[in-house]
Amino acid sequence: MKHRIVILGAGYAGAYVAGNLARRLSPKDIEITVVNAVPDFVQRMRLHQLAAGQDIEAPKLADVFAGTGIRLRLARVTGVDPERQVVATADVGGELGYDTLVYALGSHGDDCGVPGVAEHAFDIAARPSARRLRKLLDRWAEGGSVVVVGDGLTGIETATELAESRPGRSVTLVARGELGARLSAGARSHLRRACDRLRVIVLEHAGVEAVEATRVRCADGTAVTSDATVWTAGFTVDPIAAAGGLEVAANGQIIVDRTMRSVSHPNVYAIGDSAHAIGDNGLPLPMSCASAGHTGRQAVEAIVGRLTGRAIANTKLVYTYNHISLGRRDGILQPIDDEAQAKPTYVGGLKAARVKTAILTTALWATSHPTFGVPKRKHRLAATPDAVDGI
Ligand SMILES: Cc1cc2nc3c(=O)[nH]c(=O)nc-3n(C[C@H](O)[C@H](O)[C@H](O)COP(=O)(O)OP(=O)(O)OC[C@H]3O[C@@H](n4cnc5c(N)ncnc54)[C@H](O)[C@@H]3O)c2cc1C
Repeated sequence: MKHRIVILGAGYAGAYVAGNLARRLSPKDIEITVVNAVPDFVQRMRLHQLAAGQDIEAPKLADVFAGTGIRLRLARVTGVDPERQVVATADVGGELGYDTLVYALGSHGDDCGVPGVAEHAFDIAARPSARRLRKLLDRWAEGGSVVVVGDGLTGIETATELAESRPGRSVTLVARGELGARLSAGARSHLRRACDRLRVIVLEHAGVEAVEATRVRCADGTAVTSDATVWTAGFTVDPIAAAGGLEVAANGQIIVDRTMRSVSHPNVYAIGDSAHAIGDNGLPLPMSCASAGHTGRQAVEAIVGRLTGRAIANTKLVYTYNHISLGRRDGILQPIDDEAQAKPTYVGGLKAARVKTAILTTALWATSHPTFGVPKRKHRLAATPDAVDGI
């Protein structure tokens, strides 16, 4: 019987790993199945652009995996049972067995327990909500107010993109502390100038304690009128892993070792936003596309190494830059040091915007051509694959 590798999620992390494994392992020994809820690749990093009214590419996963031998199963994953080594899905097939599982279900918006967010706010972290926001903005003849809560990278990108693409709307960005507090002083000033130029109203030192149908209420009593509230204040993961008994961190991410292997279940790997992975600086890697790439590469090395009896190469686990778009013609590149703090330098303006666009284009290309550039070796499996690890 062939070794069954099942990959949950075909986002930036999962699609990349699936293609690479298919390229490096012999189809005589393995079968790879990718389970994904939707039929196309969602460029999450461009969802604020989608909401702002721009069209973004969404390659069909059937095309992405064509000719690779990967089986694609379009289904929502509803559970994992690592003791029985099965995945539960919402489609008619119901259950899927595995020998090696790669968990890459990503993340979604977190309402942070604030009343009214689930009922009244848009969540830019998922495509359905980004599309609903776009439709609503399209319906407004003119005027209308949008309040973006959260001045993390997603909130900054969303507020500036909406202001640039939808002139005539009032856009307010609500920050818990000083605007862009995690950026260097120079980058913070650049951001402030960009907000002024795009007429983004900035409300600082404001903790939102409730979202209502037509306003956002802050802890200090301030109420901001809002025809559409966009909540970007947090990201979290699905409770599927925790419910299945995998060891997870407080935020629900699967705790993995240096090779992306679950610390509780050795034939489960977690990558991307779903993984609580410690970077080379000793700190957890942030949820990001860069981390999806790094954790994916390390997981591929580990899986290929263990299954074929080869030594496992340590790949880089680093986070070195924030790339932030401020609309289509401005941006900020903020280098990050080993303590995960902003370095004093930054690059701003059109150059930064171009670099960010190039990164997005490269990420899409790499994910939708997951076998490109990978040496086609087709290693055979070792007779007792896990023996190399002494398991
Ligand atoms: C607006 C926005 C802007 C961003 N900008 C940046 C940026 O500039 N730089 C950066 O590094 N990061 C950015 N990010 C974060 C980045 O998008 C994520 O860190 C990245 O997508 C994580 O990759 P992933 O493969 O772990 O998850 P995802 O890309 O989310 O992929 C998860 C996949 O799993 C599927 N899935 C989820 N649940 C289920 C289920 N139950 N059953 C079946 N399938 C399921 C999804 O359909 C998806 O295909 C941004 C995010 C947003 C929302």
